[in-house]
Amino acid sequence: MAYTSSLRCRECGREYAIEPLNVCDFCFGPLEVVYDYDAIARVISRERITSGPLTLWRYRDLLPADHNETIDLQAGFTPLIRSRNLAKILGLDELYIKNDSVNPSYSFKDRVVAVASAKALEFGFDTIACASTGNLAGAVAAHAARAGIKAYIFIPADLEHGKVLGAAIYDPTLVAVDGTYDDVNRLCSELADKYPWAFVNINVRPFYADGSKTLGYEVAEQLGWRAPAHTVVPAASGAMFTKIWKGLNEFHDLGLIGPVHTRMHLAQARGCSPIVEAFLDDRFVVKPVRPNTVAKSLAIGNPADGYYALKVIEASGGSGVIAEEEEIAAGIKLLAQTEGIFTEAAGGVAISGLKRLVESGQIKPDEPTVVYITGNGLKTTEVVADVVNPLRIVPTVSSFEEAVAARVGS
Ligand SMILES: *Cc1c(COP(=O)(O)O)cnc(C)c1O
Ligand SMILES: [Zn+2]
Repeated sequence: MAYTSSLRCRECGREYAIEPLNVCDFCFGPLEVVYDYDAIARVISRERITSGPLTLWRYRDLLPADHNETIDLQAGFTPLIRSRNLAKILGLDELYIKNDSVNPSYSFKDRVVAVASAKALEFGFDTIACASTGNLAGAVAAHAARAGIKAYIFIPADLEHGKVLGAAIYDPTLVAVDGTYDDVNRLCSELADKYPWAFVNINVRPFYADGSKTLGYEVAEQLGWRAPAHTVVPAASGAMFTKIWKGLNEFHDLGLIGPVHTRMHLAQARGCSPIVEAFLDDRFVVKPVRPNTVAKSLAIGNPADGYYALKVIEASGGSGVIAEEEEIAAGIKLLAQTEGIFTEAAGGVAISGLKRLVESGQIKPDEPTVVYITGNGLKTTEVVADVVNPLRIVPTVSSFEEAVAARVGS
């Protein structure tokens, strides 16, 4: 049984029973899950976690759903890789890459969907659905296929081919909407009122969002039970960013790690940076924008958790950083060519953001830093198509040697 007691409005504090509900009836504020931390503290320990499965369900005591094998694709517990080459180029002593691009459907969205869909089954839904910027589509479709339930997936019509195919392969009902993600999300909010479906990021959003806490827990555990000095996190709605912070702080409050002095840095692309612009202008009101960026998985112009993300930046002494559009492909290539990790455009944003933070002196050489790589590069091959330039030969040794000489000479 999950150690949850209620849902609570983040604005007015009103409490609700654990139900598929995401908005306060009274003030329209977002709801979040309330946990019984006293009960959790009585059972949780490092030993109990490390003896659990090598998936995000090792943290089940801190998740709002019960583990359900029928839907589990074993998301989470992805590698935390100590960077040598990139660290050296950037002049950092202790840089780590949280490689979440190797989840079952190749993005961190498997974490949130694992939790949301397990909860949806508990609630008795037979259909899961979502409004997606791309990666959520694949995660929802894959989990629905695994559980043998129906999926309705709504995406903006202009998504990358790799993301559309990466959802369609699981045979959901895939709906391409002529509009932005924000249009898709608005439509889905209306549909969620009308159809008895679990929209993972709408009516079951409080449970969904807490799946991202595991990105905080895992990094702390993998660093040897400590919080890093800095994290760099790509953001769309800002939810994952706030939940990494929540996860680190829960671990401290439960006595699993020492004090959390982590500075949380939020990265967005120039073509959709409403949260970072608010940070740079020193305001807590996020002004919606119309996205125009190659980082489509981050293209949310009206971010639901923007305000809360700004509060986390403030509380942690972090910052917001913008990756210029033309730096995104360079960031992808830099990570691939230094560390052997091929990320999508969102990862390019994170790497470019990391570089800027080091160059501006906000991250110092001796400070342990974790950059979150949240999605796989094979989903956004369009962004880096120019790397494809093989030596073209006929099958003879001399042809090979001529081609090498010509390439080296050029
Ligand atoms: C969805 C997504 C994000 C951002 O998640 P939010 O919680 O909406 O901020 C980051 N990276 C990738 C690859 C994503 O798919
Ligand atoms: Zn309220």
